[in-house]
Amino acid sequence: MNRISWDQYFMAQSHLLALRSTCTRLAVGATIVRDKRIIAGGYNGSIAGGEHCIDEGCYVIDNHCVRTIHAEMNAILQCAKFGVPTSDAEIYVTHFPCLQCCKAIIQAGIKTVYYAEDYKNHPYGIELFQKAGVEVLKVDSEELTIDFKQAEKRALVDEILSLIENKEDQAESVQKLREEADKLFS
Ligand SMILES: [Zn+2]
Ligand SMILES: [Zn+2]
Repeated sequence: MNRISWDQYFMAQSHLLALRSTCTRLAVGATIVRDKRIIAGGYNGSIAGGEHCIDEGCYVIDNHCVRTIHAEMNAILQCAKFGVPTSDAEIYVTHFPCLQCCKAIIQAGIKTVYYAEDYKNHPYGIELFQKAGVEVLKVDSEELTIDFKQAEKRALVDEILSLIENKEDQAESVQKLREEADKLFS
């Protein structure tokens, strides 16, 4: 049995949160962790009750969507709202934070940044992290794939293979398997 690491687990949480993003330009998720416990999570989206980019289109100024609050900021503000200390915490983000978020992360006392994908990594952001003693680590996102239907897919593929091995005319059975495959992979 493959047991996923804490890094993979928290990064997977950020990837899940990214699926809640309401901005069409980039879907980002962020999870703040202290002592191996998730204390907050965020994704990039509008302020509560605001219009969504997915409904109204992005509000673009200088090539940036200004409608949304970034995932990292949302997670930090969730801690502020509910009085949860972020000092010495860790943050897991799907994409390397923008410069504004780098500064917010440092100022919130977060000590480690784990990220899955490089994204316009700002040299000044990297420099600020170094000066502030914030550790920045890339987590291999390829290891993060979680397939909840792996067993079902495996069984289906096995069935297809055994059918192909059988040289008789199997058009009807193949059609049924195709429909099943369509359902699984949709
Ligand atoms: Zn947008
Ligand atoms: Zn940002």
